[in-house]
Amino acid sequence: MGTQAFIGNAAAAARLTGRARGHAYLLTGPDGIGKRTLADRFAAALLCERADGPCRVAGTSEEAMEPCPSCKLREAGNHPDYHRLPAEGNLTIAQVRELSRALGLSPHSGRHQVGLVPDAERLGVPAQNALLKLLEEPPRHAVLVLTAPSPASLLPTTVSRCQRVPLGPVPADELVAALKDRGVQDANAVASRAGERPGTAIRLADDPDADAAVRESESALLDVVRRSVPERLALAKRLADDPEALPGRLDAWIGIYRASLRNSGGPAAERLAETVPLAKRIDGLIRLFAARRKLRYNPNTQLLLEQLFLNIGT
Ligand SMILES: [Zn+2]
Repeated sequence: MGTQAFIGNAAAAARLTGRARGHAYLLTGPDGIGKRTLADRFAAALLCERADGPCRVAGTSEEAMEPCPSCKLREAGNHPDYHRLPAEGNLTIAQVRELSRALGLSPHSGRHQVGLVPDAERLGVPAQNALLKLLEEPPRHAVLVLTAPSPASLLPTTVSRCQRVPLGPVPADELVAALKDRGVQDANAVASRAGERPGTAIRLADDPDADAAVRESESALLDVVRRSVPERLALAKRLADDPEALPGRLDAWIGIYRASLRNSGGPAAERLAETVPLAKRIDGLIRLFAARRKLRYNPNTQLLLEQLFLNIGT
C-alpha cells in the first residue's frame, strides 16, 4: 500500500480505516492538525476497490502502484460517490440538502456514498437542522464525515449523532521524527514554527513562501504585543488590507502562543514569553481562537484586528 504514514494521532487514524463502523464521524482538533488529510484518507479507504486498499492516498506522491479506477476518479476530484462541500465560504441549507440527496443514491461503483463537510462549524443552525434528518435516518451505504475545531463548535444534537474522533497536538519530538523521515531539512526549526501541527509543518516545509510568511507573522506578532496603542492600530489597518493572509497569520500566532505556554517553542515563543506575562498569554490565546473563528464569517477585519490588538500583549 503506497501510503506515507499519517503523522501523530495514531488512535484516531486507526479508527478510520476501510470499514465504516457508523454513518457519521466528527473529527475535531485545531487547524493544521490533519483533520482534512485523515478524512480524505478515510474516504479513500472506503471507496477503493482493492480489498487491502487504498491504492494511493490523497496528498502523497508515491507512484508505486497503479491505482484502481475508483482511486483514479477520487484523485482527479471526479468520484461520483464522494461528495465534498466547499472548503471556503459559508455553507447553505441548499448545499446540505443536495449532499443529503447525493448520499441517498445507490453507490456507482463500491459499497459507499461518502460525504465530507470540512469546517462544519460554518453550518448555521438551520443548515445543521437540515443535516439532522440525514444523521437520524442515514441511508444504509452513506458515510458522512464532519470536521470542526471542537464539539462545542456544533449543536449538541449534531454532535450526539456522530462518532467522535478527537485529534490533538502532536508532540514536538514525534513531529520532528516524522519530518526527518520525509526528508525535511531543518526538521527541528520547521516543527517548532508549526506549533505541534503536522499539516502546518508539511506546508511550511513544502512552500518557502509559506515559511517566509510565517517568519513575517512572527515579527508582526512581536510588534503587536510590544508597541504603543497608536502603533497597534496602524498595524491593524495594514494587516486588514491583506485579508487573504489573515487566517494563516492567526494560525501562526496561535501556534506561537501555545508553544510559549508549553515552553516548547522556538525563538518567537521564547520572546513572547519574555515580553508577555503568563496570565496575559492565556487570555491572548483565548482571544486569538475567538478571532480566528470569527474570520470565517467575513467580518469587518480591521475592527476585528483592532479589538484583538488592544487586548493581547502587554
Ligand atoms: Zn483504489
